[in-house]
Amino acid sequence: MEQVYFEKEYFMFCSNCGSQLSDESLFCSKCGKPTKNNIHTLESTTKHKVTIFRESQIYLVNPPVNISINNKMDRSIENGGSVELELEEGRYKFEFSMSFRKKTIDVNVNKDIQLTVKWNRFTGALVVDVS
Ligand SMILES: [Zn+2]
Repeated sequence: MEQVYFEKEYFMFCSNCGSQLSDESLFCSKCGKPTKNNIHTLESTTKHKVTIFRESQIYLVNPPVNISINNKMDRSIENGGSVELELEEGRYKFEFSMSFRKKTIDVNVNKDIQLTVKWNRFTGALVVDVS
């Protein structure tokens, strides 16, 4: 790893309380927050808010959009509705479906994100914007 080369000049500080820590510490000695050495703990505890918003659109037939995440956690969302989820940091496959139409996107959840679902009026395709 490249980091080893720089280790001698590298001081680590707690991201929570700012205490200076030794390079090898896994937890802050002052407040107990896991350090970036503690990759496993960080990955399993970092969560982000994912808001899925369905744009309100007027159509004759407008059933709920079904959402599945990594082929599970099925939800549905009504016209103009929204769903809020807390997901652990990582990559997810979101699949949106409504009758025979489907849209699958890969989303890297590394911050709070919003997915906006809507129909393209001209093509009839399901569109998902990530912001
Ligand atoms: Zn600390």
